[in-house]
Amino acid sequence: MEDCLFCKISKGEIPSNKVYEDEEIMAFYDINPAAPIHILVIPKRHITSLAEIEKKDEVLIGKIYSVINQIAEEKGFKQEGFRVIVNCGKNGGQEVMHLHFHVLAGTKLGEKIV
Ligand code: 5GP
Ligand code: ZN
Repeated sequence: MEDCLFCKISKGEIPSNKVYEDEEIMAFYDINPAAPIHILVIPKRHITSLAEIEKKDEVLIGKIYSVINQIAEEKGFKQEGFRVIVNCGKNGGQEVMHLHFHVLAGTKLGEKIV
């Protein structure tokens, strides 16, 4: 999608500090980390938000969680634990309108809402 920040990052048009990439999924460090380790995992194909996920995306979403697990293993925070957050829409506080999974790790995370 034109003018989408994360589409541009997924195409390499905007540089990012890449953690993982395959044909469908990409992961890179958040520019403004909220934890010692803060990685964003995105589908390369533009999906606006969690609310836009369709039946055909089910395998892709499952694969994203598998990739998160793989990153946790490779980056060494799987054992200590981590948190995955998806902000959706206005009330969810989503700012970049391209589906992304925040992966937070490296400390005991505070401000637990649920
Ligand atoms: P949201 O608030 O939409 O759930 O999360 C958007 C995230 O994208 C924020 O944590 C923000 O720091 C991150 N972000 C915004 N612009 C950029 C950028 O240009 N590069 C990277 N790596 N992260 C970004
Ligand atoms: Zn996009």
